[in-house]
Amino acid sequence: MQNPQDVLPDELRKRLDIGNFKDKEWDSAPSTITPHDTLVRKTWRFHAENVHDFAFTADPTYRIGEATWNGVRCVALAQEPHCSGWQNAASYNAKSIKAHSDWFGLYGYPKMVVADARDGMEYPMLTLDGGSDPDYRGLFVHEIGHNWFYGMIGNNETYRAMLDEGFTQFLTAGGLSVIDGDTMVEDTPKTSY
Ligand SMILES: [Zn+2]
Repeated sequence: MQNPQDVLPDELRKRLDIGNFKDKEWDSAPSTITPHDTLVRKTWRFHAENVHDFAFTADPTYRIGEATWNGVRCVALAQEPHCSGWQNAASYNAKSIKAHSDWFGLYGYPKMVVADARDGMEYPMLTLDGGSDPDYRGLFVHEIGHNWFYGMIGNNETYRAMLDEGFTQFLTAGGLSVIDGDTMVEDTPKTSY
């Protein structure tokens, strides 16, 4: 982002912080941060190097979480009604970048975004995701993992699907086991034996 002071000044960034909404009931109606009749046109300027594709996602209910690993800015964009389930999204994003970097090769971009879009897709430095913690972890590790093959190596995911999806599945399994261990319980059983 080239012009944060123009589009996302500190005062606005604080109001959009995901931590402000940690106790908000899941799927309850979002609040209004900037009333519609006070909106002014803004131009967000981005610059990226060594990318062969781009995408953007926009939503007035996005709230922001941030973490860093090794200088990589790891961002989470969660829809406000989902913020209670996305509190660790930015830090899990950072853990995913670290796990893949330690194992497969250092992440080469300066940023990674996990965005709440109710489905999964990968772009350089941006992944669309859905769900909530802990079930979204596999999706994060997977879509972020695409940035090694589809992203940095730049292979054609249509013509060489095995190199892209195949290696990414391999990275997903390895990354998850590094971060969460061999077994992760997503739904704790209600009864014990
Ligand atoms: Zn995939």
